[in-house]
Amino acid sequence: MTLRLVPDLVLTEHGWRSGCAVTLAGGRIASIEPTGRAEPGDVLLAGRALLPGTVNAHCHTFQSLLRGLGDDLDFTGWRDRVLYPFSQRLDRSGIALGAAFAFAEMLRHGATTCVDFFYLQDEGNENAEAVIEAARAVGIRLVLARTMYDWAGAPKRYRESPADAARRTRELIAAHRRDDTIVVQPAPHSPHGASPAMIRAGFEVAESEDTRFHIHVAEGRYEGERTLREHGATPIRYLDQLGVLGPRMIGVHCVWLDDEEVALMGARRASLAYCPSSNMFLGDGITRLPELRRAGVRIGLGTDGGCTNNRLSVFEEMRMAALLQRVRLLDGGALDAATAFELGTRSGGEILGLDAGSIAPGRLADLVAVDLGDASMHPQLDTLKSVVFAMSDRAVTDVWVHGRRVVEAGRIVTLDEQALLGRVRELTRGWRVLEPPAVTGPRLAGEP
Ligand SMILES: [Zn+2]
Repeated sequence: MTLRLVPDLVLTEHGWRSGCAVTLAGGRIASIEPTGRAEPGDVLLAGRALLPGTVNAHCHTFQSLLRGLGDDLDFTGWRDRVLYPFSQRLDRSGIALGAAFAFAEMLRHGATTCVDFFYLQDEGNENAEAVIEAARAVGIRLVLARTMYDWAGAPKRYRESPADAARRTRELIAAHRRDDTIVVQPAPHSPHGASPAMIRAGFEVAESEDTRFHIHVAEGRYEGERTLREHGATPIRYLDQLGVLGPRMIGVHCVWLDDEEVALMGARRASLAYCPSSNMFLGDGITRLPELRRAGVRIGLGTDGGCTNNRLSVFEEMRMAALLQRVRLLDGGALDAATAFELGTRSGGEILGLDAGSIAPGRLADLVAVDLGDASMHPQLDTLKSVVFAMSDRAVTDVWVHGRRVVEAGRIVTLDEQALLGRVRELTRGWRVLEPPAVTGPRLAGEP
């Protein structure tokens, strides 16, 4: 099926163009040509600009159901009192609900691709399949980063042996190899959540199946000290010693790297999924983005989970990436709008191995229409700067994924959003975080 979109402006690979129609066919962009004569069936997008859809390079979709539960806790408090106990409450339908809830929010915010770094395996692939089914139904492009986890301190449902995790990951990759909108990639959890054998197993799956692989790296300062103590090297050096640091690797976060590790990531042509809002939310620290770019590291932007952000918008991450580097370097020019936009679109597609994130013939038909008449897009002086620094999510009116229109006039068309929200309220009714057991002496006078 062919579809012709006729907006006021198109952001192509070579900059803005007006008076053009973008034709979609077979899930890809077929052509960008002068509009010419109107044709029956044209999708007229008067007053709107067409942009590439954004790429969310790191998320955990089920965590959207935990939003608001542990917002003011430190990392271990959040993990032990929120993440671990509440992720145990989700059965397969809860996992699918969390995924649909997160995907719908992302689409409304203009994210057309999502990486779900998924780890509620229950020693199988059925839960991951439920997430994949939700992505198909809601209509987002999904990279299912199939987590491989064996740290004994985590809940049992996260854990598998390296051999089982590798076998199941291969099976899931094989099952979806020919899917148009689903890609499966291995994801050994992190140097602290995955043993050396598990990290190697994930890397070997990526090698033999010719995919990328995802791994959390150096999110908190403690991780460097811990990896040094347990494995005799800081995280990036440790991964290099394991032989897995290379062009297939997407390191998530990479906050606490020394100069040599920054250079090493670049020399090995590794990638980074950068999550500025999540890093701020959890108080992790500031990844040295300009240094990593200069070292040659390829970079995409991620929201991370819905309970450590707490928004799911890559446009928002563009803004946050730029602002955070500016305040860190005391330099208003540290990261400009065009670079931030590139990280959230084409560069994110590249690190995942997808033809996503730019508008050109042959590229994936993942597109976003933005209302140029929205107040946040005024004055109409520099559209790209407005998109990155000023745009309200309200201005995102229409979204196509693989040529399918999934948001129309600001509403998801693939599901009943009110019914979805009703199910989210129903599932989470009465959820609250319990106080930790008292370990101190008698209460002070006046304390409740
Ligand atoms: Zn994560």
